[in-house]
Amino acid sequence: MAFNNLPLIEPILKAVAQEGYTTPTPIQQKAIPLVLDGNDLLGCAQTGTGKTAAFSIPIIQLLSTQKQSRPGIKALILTPTRELAIQINESLASYGKFTKIRHTVIFGGVSQLHQTNALKRGVDILVATPGRLLDLINQKYIDLRHLEIFVLDEADRMLDMGFIHDVKKLINIIPTKRQTLFFSATMPSEIQKLADTLLKNPKYVEVTPPSSTVEKITQKLYFTNKNDKAKLLIHLLEKENIGSALVFGRTKHGSDKVVKLLQREGIKAAAIHGNKSQNARQNALNDFKNGKIRILVATDIAARGIDIDELATVFNYDLPNIPETYVHRIGRTGRAGNSGVAISFADQDTMKEYRDIEKLIGIKIPVIDEHPYQMSGNPTVEKKEQKNNKRSFSRKRR
Ligand code: AMP
Repeated sequence: MAFNNLPLIEPILKAVAQEGYTTPTPIQQKAIPLVLDGNDLLGCAQTGTGKTAAFSIPIIQLLSTQKQSRPGIKALILTPTRELAIQINESLASYGKFTKIRHTVIFGGVSQLHQTNALKRGVDILVATPGRLLDLINQKYIDLRHLEIFVLDEADRMLDMGFIHDVKKLINIIPTKRQTLFFSATMPSEIQKLADTLLKNPKYVEVTPPSSTVEKITQKLYFTNKNDKAKLLIHLLEKENIGSALVFGRTKHGSDKVVKLLQREGIKAAAIHGNKSQNARQNALNDFKNGKIRILVATDIAARGIDIDELATVFNYDLPNIPETYVHRIGRTGRAGNSGVAISFADQDTMKEYRDIEKLIGIKIPVIDEHPYQMSGNPTVEKKEQKNNKRSFSRKRR
């Protein structure tokens, strides 16, 4: 199926072609016609499936083809993180560039002046994170009386990040007569309950459960010592001819340390995490996207929603202690049909994590044992056994 087969207007088809997209992803194929027909939608999909375009494109079309357009904000896209909000706004700019739709983005952690000025100029589609949105509503910069379409993006992460109360507050403010699009990667019961209260006769669209995303990605595991991980990273960056890569660290301090070690070797790197200002994070992300820096080291919170086209390699420098996070992390690569590589380091302290991940994804991650920074003398495992079965390292934690 091509984009031309969807009932889309010429300005959108032209913009999509300029983006280089030829085929709509499964969620786009399913969701775009349903949203254009005015349905409420419950979409079970994670980032990387093309869901941003799946809701942005029909919203742009619905609003730009209205016969009588009322002034004011007509669509609101609520998303949990600043990075996601910025990326959605960039997508609106790309897909709507040949329409007259006006859009802007608001998020916390920066001065509100630029945002309130944009709001005063007039906006059709507003992308927002919950805190700043409620703040600007209270300050009367935002009026949602004319809202027609409400998108709740990444609902499960809203819950994880403690925003559910803000979301509920907002729902009491917006008009009850509206079209609602609800997206979540997972459907825990609290999210299902929220969906039930928000949606009227929704159509249900589900794509790519996490496990099938994982299957597309080449996964590799290296057993090494905690103190050798930076050396192993540098070794692999050189030997494996890896261009740019996203490296996941568990702590802010640890991430900064990795960056320092890489820089000492002349490898351009930067870290993004919660201690960095929004501007520093955005600059690092832009530098990474533009190829000015080769390695971006990120903690999970900071990396949420990072959208980088054609990210080929992800490193799990520190394995996450929540196995689902592994799936989210490696889902940053292998997007929209591209192939990807996920390289993980397991040290003596993260053996349990590695086993829990394998249990979740249901496959054994191939172990690469040809490298100079082998995990040293685990006293609980016989040498011979080590040779026969590298996995026996995991039998006992230190
Ligand atoms: P998302 O799931 O919205 O985060 O999108 C994942 C990535 O896929 C983004 O980098 C988009 O630019 C890209 N993308 C979205 N739709 C398509 C498409 N139909 N063809 C190729 N790439 C796409």
